[in-house]
Amino acid sequence: METGISYFGNRMPRHIEKDLKDIKKHNCTYVLHTCSEIDQAYYPGTMKEIVKISHDNGLKVQMNSWAVGGVFGGEAYSLFVMQNSGEMQELANGKKVPAACLNSKKFRVFLKKFIENCVSYGIDTFFWDEPHFYLPWHFGDAPGDYGCFCLKCKKLYREQYGKAMPKKQESTIEEFREKCVVSLLNEINPVIKRGRVETAICVLPKLIEGENSGTGDWDKVASLKGIDLFTTDPYWTMHLKRPGFNVEEFVRRNSVNAIAAAKKYGKKAGIWVQCYSIKKGEEYNLETAVRTAFDCGARDIAAWGYGGTSYMSQLACGRPQYCWDLLGELYKECHKKSKS
Ligand SMILES: [Zn+2]
Repeated sequence: METGISYFGNRMPRHIEKDLKDIKKHNCTYVLHTCSEIDQAYYPGTMKEIVKISHDNGLKVQMNSWAVGGVFGGEAYSLFVMQNSGEMQELANGKKVPAACLNSKKFRVFLKKFIENCVSYGIDTFFWDEPHFYLPWHFGDAPGDYGCFCLKCKKLYREQYGKAMPKKQESTIEEFREKCVVSLLNEINPVIKRGRVETAICVLPKLIEGENSGTGDWDKVASLKGIDLFTTDPYWTMHLKRPGFNVEEFVRRNSVNAIAAAKKYGKKAGIWVQCYSIKKGEEYNLETAVRTAFDCGARDIAAWGYGGTSYMSQLACGRPQYCWDLLGELYKECHKKSKS
């Protein structure tokens, strides 16, 4: 049984060491350290040190490319995008958006180097964190304002489908986006494998209304040779007001499907649960999520993020310490049950 937690927002090793001991006490077996473009620009030696002290404290280490190029999960901005406006994704109406095009050769070269650096820090697992095409709701654009509609994408689409890229969402667009994400992963996974580290991926859960940001077909991702651990992250708080929404059903459906996709291709499966933005009095949803994921067969459960994300005001839980302690107890329960 593996249990993990994400850690970010602090680059001071002596404080991190204290937190790592707390993470260990909360029954985690690994920690995911985020790595942003700023981390690689200004903290490369520190990142290496952070990985080392994590290992020294008995934790395995995952690392992601946090919001790099604006096409992965994470609360960070991309310098690459700011410096390379010609590589930005475009909406159907021609508006350029703050995300690099996944088909940009220049971006792929940059990302390859970025991931190579992550691997060089001594990590155990590189974590592909929600690779996606532009999500309009994330930046306040209207639903349906999808990307990417840049010249490179339009050219590629025409080559593959023999017609102009349609301006409205349709199944060939979804298929095209999936092919683009898969091609990106296939191109870069060998870099991770050369470093002899494991490769994990987290795909966005199925629900975000009618949107397919590039990883809608989980079989296509789970079947990739370079992927070892296939996960999804059915975070629930943003959906709680949807009529008929049920946390247990949402987590169960996504867990069952993720585990099935992973098993089909002989991969390990994992589920991420939400430990941020949980309102006071709604902590029971955290219990539901962890227990449901475990019941469905997930033996790798991780949560976002450390300490109920207390230190990031925009994402903090109402009672962060309560959530963090609850998560620690739930992890303890999982370890116990997995042995019986
Ligand atoms: Zn494009």
